[in-house]
Amino acid sequence: MSKFLSKRLFALSPYVPGEQPKEKKYIKLNTNESPFPPSPLAAMLARQAAGDNQLYSDPDLKELTLAAQDAFGVSADEVIFTNGSDEILNFAFMAFCENETVFPDVTYGFYPVFAALNGVKYTEIPLKEDFTIDINDYIGINKNIFLANPNAQTGIALTRDEIEKIVASNPNNIVVIDEAYVDFGAQSCVPLIKKYDNLLVTQTFSKSRSLAGARLGMGFACKALIADLNTIRFSTNPYNVNRMTSAAGVGAMRDEKYFKKNCAAIIATRENTVKALNELGFSVLPSSANFVLAKSHKIGGEALYQALKREGILVRHFSTKRLCEYNRITIGSDEEMNTLICTIKKILEEEA
Ligand SMILES: *Cc1c(COP(=O)(O)O)cnc(C)c1O
Repeated sequence: MSKFLSKRLFALSPYVPGEQPKEKKYIKLNTNESPFPPSPLAAMLARQAAGDNQLYSDPDLKELTLAAQDAFGVSADEVIFTNGSDEILNFAFMAFCENETVFPDVTYGFYPVFAALNGVKYTEIPLKEDFTIDINDYIGINKNIFLANPNAQTGIALTRDEIEKIVASNPNNIVVIDEAYVDFGAQSCVPLIKKYDNLLVTQTFSKSRSLAGARLGMGFACKALIADLNTIRFSTNPYNVNRMTSAAGVGAMRDEKYFKKNCAAIIATRENTVKALNELGFSVLPSSANFVLAKSHKIGGEALYQALKREGILVRHFSTKRLCEYNRITIGSDEEMNTLICTIKKILEEEA
């Protein structure tokens, strides 16, 4: 730390992203990226846009906005695009969370970091013993709420009706629903933005749309909330989405067939993986995401993570009390998951 750092940032401990090692080629099942390449249309449009990079990108992101209007049935003033959905989550903490804010104790690790960065006071509400969210904890709580749906780290989803109860019962507070994983089997709350002026729904192109490296996120809300978020966007960086990323995002939304096919493939592979893990004696939480949280009764979470890493497979291990017996395993291709299952079998045999 230098002597120049602002006092208000002394205690900030930054988000720790999953490993992206370069020293050898791993099967990467640790950061929930897609095993499939971006849509060919997305890649082609991005390549074309690269030739126009001498000019700034469009601060109004008209092409992206039009594509989102077509894909999601929202109007132009109900959507915003950001540099990854992390950026819009940061904007939301900055813009709307003067009052106390809550989120689950097990969820996306960036929420407490953004809260700290923006001086937001927050409380973590414990998930139930079975890792589900008790919606009664949030109904009428009269605090700002951040929920990932499906929830990060668990993959467990609430229904749209359950979320609507939370949104409707907190009319004087903002409710942010982070739908990073919604395309893998949960109900989207985007339609609810027409009905509630306190709801912000965020989505990302990093997972289901195979564009993690491009950095593109989007938010849906009523016109007034989007206008507030744009005030922040134009006060930080009006060119937050670059030309190539914007073009790739348009391609990803226009190529709906490719998107749907990949989501269906991940869901099918997930179900096969859960079955195989169950047969090996794992407990697996019911996932609606592109990952599963799984615990072996024969080997500890940390030990399995290390053993898999030695075998060239990366999964995500969290050392927190509630998660340390588990590993979070991204759903890759069928071939990658077959290798995973064979490798786990071998590790368990060596353990025994
Ligand atoms: C991956 C993820 C995000 C953010 O992804 P970006 O790459 O910044 O768009 C947000 N929330 C959750 C729960 C995630 O898992």
